[in-house]
Amino acid sequence: MFGRLFVSLNNLFIRIRRVRVRPEHLLLLVPRCLQKTGCAQTLGETLNDCKVCGNCNVADLLTIRDEFGIRCSLAAGGREALAFVANRQVKAVVAVACEKELFQGICAVFPKPVLAVLNIQTNGPCRNTRLDPECVREAVRSMLKNQAPAKKR
Ligand code: SF4
Repeated sequence: MFGRLFVSLNNLFIRIRRVRVRPEHLLLLVPRCLQKTGCAQTLGETLNDCKVCGNCNVADLLTIRDEFGIRCSLAAGGREALAFVANRQVKAVVAVACEKELFQGICAVFPKPVLAVLNIQTNGPCRNTRLDPECVREAVRSMLKNQAPAKKR
């Protein structure tokens, strides 16, 4: 409950600040649990070895990454996520995770701005998590310079 409230307040603060960066300075950061259990691909920092089979949302992330020309990394844990965010080229982050990870991550990288998107846990925490690609796309768009707001569907 507290984590969800914190994420909402953080996102409100980021949107009021109107943080806008160039695509090469925006990192879309997601946790390892998004990758389908049993997938044989080793994704590492980039998602380039994904076969885009569609069995998990990594395929959607590749689409969003290439659509906007942003960075996208999959982190195995908090320490790795912090290392990706510490890159001097990264000026802002869209992070997908659970409330607990988002709370810890936002605090750890402050004052670097992080717009948070909660993941979807249909298989419990830390296993085969999902995301809403349209929520992620909207978050990315809102953090980029010279991007028109998404059309209402
Ligand atoms: S979409 Fe990519 S990461 Fe997901 S299961 Fe298929 S190959 Fe693996």
